[in-house]
Amino acid sequence: MKTLENYNFQNKKALIRVDFNVPLDAEKNITDDTRIRAALPTIQHVINNGGSAIIMSHLGRPKNGPENDFSLIHLVSHLEKLSKVKVHFSEDCIGEKAKLKCNLMKPGEITLLENVRFHKEETKGDLSFAKKLASLGDCYINDAFGTAHRAHASTTVIARNFSEDKMFGFLMEGEIKSLEKVLNSDKKPLTAIIGGAKVSSKLPIIENLINKVDNLIIGGGMAYTFIKANGGNIGKSLVENDFLNTATSIQELAKNKKVNLYLPIDTATADAFDNNATKSVVNIENIPAGLMGLDIGEKSEKLFSDVIENSKLILWNGPMGVFEFSNFENGTKSAANAIVKATQKGAFSLIGGGDSVAAINKFNLSKEVSYVSTGGGAMLEYLEGKTLPGIHAILN
Ligand code: AMP
Repeated sequence: MKTLENYNFQNKKALIRVDFNVPLDAEKNITDDTRIRAALPTIQHVINNGGSAIIMSHLGRPKNGPENDFSLIHLVSHLEKLSKVKVHFSEDCIGEKAKLKCNLMKPGEITLLENVRFHKEETKGDLSFAKKLASLGDCYINDAFGTAHRAHASTTVIARNFSEDKMFGFLMEGEIKSLEKVLNSDKKPLTAIIGGAKVSSKLPIIENLINKVDNLIIGGGMAYTFIKANGGNIGKSLVENDFLNTATSIQELAKNKKVNLYLPIDTATADAFDNNATKSVVNIENIPAGLMGLDIGEKSEKLFSDVIENSKLILWNGPMGVFEFSNFENGTKSAANAIVKATQKGAFSLIGGGDSVAAINKFNLSKEVSYVSTGGGAMLEYLEGKTLPGIHAILN
């Protein structure tokens, strides 16, 4: 298989699909450039090795063709600043103008194409649109992990036009390696910490992970459905009554597979969904009628931390409580600290899924863990055991 490292980019025009879907303020300034920085190593590798880079991305969700709010032109000067190379801009991602711009490129140059989603054919995965995009370059690199679960023209279908000359970018490679490390390594024990609001949204991941993990820690809002299923009183805590039987069968499955399943034993409750609500810590199975659990308690923190700190592989998806409220962030913070400690002792730790990434960033600990995934939905689908079209298209 071709990789960035073994491919000869000399005089080649590389079409690179990146995820430059960055937030812009009202004046169209980029408010968080993490995604641009994440794709820079791949772009720089191409231009430093004799190639030129044609960059494709989407930005936002334009409905009916071109819209200034979603134009990639707003990214040109920042990309120039970061790459230290003049960035040409093509007002359309296909057609004669794009062709002319790309034909004129010399090695070491960058051209940013306008938003691929200005053409409705992009999200439809249209074959002829993908072919037009493909005609602009000599090889194709997919470095957009965040959209790898979508069979769109520029993320998946385009690859059919490059039988050999297609490969992953560094970001994509790093994501896949980290996920594979967690899912297919024989390092033990492997602990998955799953939290967040709902059992229903995490069910497919739990069902796949239960075949692989040694320890499964369940915290956050979803834990109360398990506690209720086991006969506990959960007061006004978050619950999914339709999933009580599911919670019971997950516990039975864990038992059969000899997976240690840990639920919180105590909880920090509030009399309202409010950071300043009156807080009290109670046994999680006996939450008074008017109260709701918004975080795990100290005994649970200790229980979970001991398991986490003795793990060799750790996957964390979903907070242990309402970490956005400073008075109810302790459980999530303690899990994050335990992950950091385990990492310092040599464990490999992967953090992913929107809110756990937000939490680890809030606690300034993202540099202290092994890998923080950039792809929310894509990462979840990978963990669910699904084949991601963007990955499949490069491998086949
Ligand atoms: P998810 O997107 O499913 O990972 O859910 C993340 C959200 O779950 C965060 O916004 C948390 O505030 C919320 N959450 C975590 N624990 C609780 C809880 N005990 N009660 C209500 N919401 C919670």
